[in-house]
Amino acid sequence: MKPSTMILPSKELVREMDVAAPRYTSYPAIPVWHPAESGAAYADVLQRHSSDIPLTLYFHVPFCPVICHYCGCNTAKLEREEQTAEYVESVLREIQLAGSLLPERHRIAQIHWGGGTPSILQDDEFLSVMRRVRESFDVYDQAELAIETNPMTCSDKKIRFLLDNGFNRISIGVQDFDPEVQQKIGRCQTHERTAEFCRLVREYDVRSLNFDLVYGLPGQTLKKAEDTLAKVVDLAPDRIAVYSFAFLPTLRDNQKKIDKTSLPDTDLKFDLYLLTIERLQQAGYEMIGMDHYAKPEDELAVAWRERRLRRNFMGYTTKAETDVVAFGATAISDVSGYYCQNEKDNAPYYERIKNGDLPVQRHMSLDADDQIRRKVIMDLLCNGVVVKQEVSKRFSIDVDDYFSPELARLTPLAAKDLVRNDPSVVEATILGRFFLRNLALVFDNYLDGRKGPQRGTTFSRTV
Ligand code: SF4
Repeated sequence: MKPSTMILPSKELVREMDVAAPRYTSYPAIPVWHPAESGAAYADVLQRHSSDIPLTLYFHVPFCPVICHYCGCNTAKLEREEQTAEYVESVLREIQLAGSLLPERHRIAQIHWGGGTPSILQDDEFLSVMRRVRESFDVYDQAELAIETNPMTCSDKKIRFLLDNGFNRISIGVQDFDPEVQQKIGRCQTHERTAEFCRLVREYDVRSLNFDLVYGLPGQTLKKAEDTLAKVVDLAPDRIAVYSFAFLPTLRDNQKKIDKTSLPDTDLKFDLYLLTIERLQQAGYEMIGMDHYAKPEDELAVAWRERRLRRNFMGYTTKAETDVVAFGATAISDVSGYYCQNEKDNAPYYERIKNGDLPVQRHMSLDADDQIRRKVIMDLLCNGVVVKQEVSKRFSIDVDDYFSPELARLTPLAAKDLVRNDPSVVEATILGRFFLRNLALVFDNYLDGRKGPQRGTTFSRTV
């Protein structure tokens, strides 16, 4: 039975709204950032950073035991065990480097390990990084310690080690439980092992257990998706992120292993999307932002209802007032209106750290217009609403004047009952919440060369 508040878009509307768009983990999106000659600009930002603003630390581990065919992450197959030791050595130096630039000791509200497969590190490697973090920063007692895991490669011993050492948010990549789909994506992960892994995690007092699901994968059918979703609901994770598979074999060599003819056609992909959101809502999950679902009591759902959700490169977060300092190859920092991304390949990353340089490969300093638009876009994506007076006051503008062309461009979306533009707010309707990226697009000043050229842009589809 449908919950009374449940609403689903029609397939026609989904088809109409399916366009290429940034995922807005940042604004401006990464393709418009500039190449960086050195880490000097980032060093300057860190040197001026106020310790009143707590930090989120992100650690990227770009190794996996095997590379899945569908993977879109920055990672490589681990060939030798010593590779992680070499990598951790550079990360340790990078922590010291960044920590020494900050004018005072900073507080840490959240630490997130992603990749790749971060659990591939040896226990002593984890401990040495955490020790270095505590030498350079003050970690809150209640800090959120999150890690992405793969139950097939993270042993019981390893997950117990992580949980014993304070990790309190565990994310599991599930994608799909069907063995045929798993075989086609090169990731065999039995339902039994995932269930056992969840049971083990639940023995500890974790704040939340998250699943990632992907629709649009090769071999997926509605029947298989029904089965996967039933198993997911039965395992009852606190949060579920639902992603659309972006098939980009010209950019990702590993995706060339996917048989194109086994991919769901657009029609089936839309049905898979609709089925997923319907089943999750029926199971009592609340839709959060553009692609997350959470149990109503989960802090993400509470933050969504209280309009204090934020978005960063790790997804949605309740840590609204933190800046992100990131470590490791390809890692992305977001500090005081300045974004930067580290070298993507390990060799130049090691080289620059060895030379005592922050390994920034590309970056972007936000101008006044970028900051205003970032606030509006993030408010839409995180909370579904822009409170005009709040934005006007914060940036000393009149929102209706400043965004006059954009508000006019919302009119056709308002006619489809996706958004409401009244004197006090721009707000996504219940139906519009399925298409937050489409609403955000209206306020993006870089699209179509409006403000500057996009370099090598290949955005994923909104559905
Ligand atoms: S485990 Fe995750 S990061 Fe590693 S190859 Fe598979 S999808 Fe990519």
